[in-house]
Amino acid sequence: MKVRVALATEAAPGRPNEDFAAVSADAAVLLDGAGTPAGSESGCSHGVAWFARTLGSSLLAAMTQKHETLPELLAGEIKAVAGLHEDTCDLTHPGSPSATVVMLRRTDDALEWLVLADSGLVLDTGDTAAPMVIRDDREAQVGARYRSAMDALDSGSPEHQAAHRDYVEALRAHRNRDGGFWVAATDPLAADQALTGTVPRESVRTAVLLSDGASRLVDRFHLATWRQALDLLDQEGPEALISRVRAAEHSDPAGARWPRGKTFDDATVVTLSLP
Ligand SMILES: [Zn+2]
Repeated sequence: MKVRVALATEAAPGRPNEDFAAVSADAAVLLDGAGTPAGSESGCSHGVAWFARTLGSSLLAAMTQKHETLPELLAGEIKAVAGLHEDTCDLTHPGSPSATVVMLRRTDDALEWLVLADSGLVLDTGDTAAPMVIRDDREAQVGARYRSAMDALDSGSPEHQAAHRDYVEALRAHRNRDGGFWVAATDPLAADQALTGTVPRESVRTAVLLSDGASRLVDRFHLATWRQALDLLDQEGPEALISRVRAAEHSDPAGARWPRGKTFDDATVVTLSLP
């Protein structure tokens, strides 16, 4: 079985990259560490980038060595990573580091997937006009109730920064709670709340994992359809998609056309071509 992999990732300008992605012959993971905005507390001295990298690399190792289901693997690694810093950090803090998770595993005849929080997975079967797009939009649904104050302000202004901090802190009350939204943080039970599925191995031509900093080209900026984005990835590679995102962000620095929490965001794309 052959697979061709392309991966591109770029931090938001001037910040550490809190996205993480990694691929082996039969497995791929992508995580987007959820921010602790400047001036906000987290209870963890390691930080969000550490959390995403540590959980992501543990997940990839587990996916290639163990045969449990994807939610079981995720629960186990959330627990294992919590064990790495429960003695030094306050893991009960509502702002403790968290991350979205996309997992994809290939078996002899199937592709198994798991999506938790707002990173995306796109599966192109080649024979339908629109590819299959798997998104967990629970955080966006909760966030819609809180974002009007932030969206009314110019991105990049101190007032917007403060409103973004308030927004993130307001969402914490809904994090990993029934009726709210679920992310990988310290509670292994979040794994049971992930979206999961299996598709026949032969039916998928291309699989794409994206952080929301990359998928915003399609789902927030509406500058391309998913089909157009897949064509761009196929012809010019994932770095071209990220360049388009950056160009759009630069064209709207104050968020007038596309109100958004982060003017620029870490952007990561993994493309797996399965000929
Ligand atoms: Zn820590």
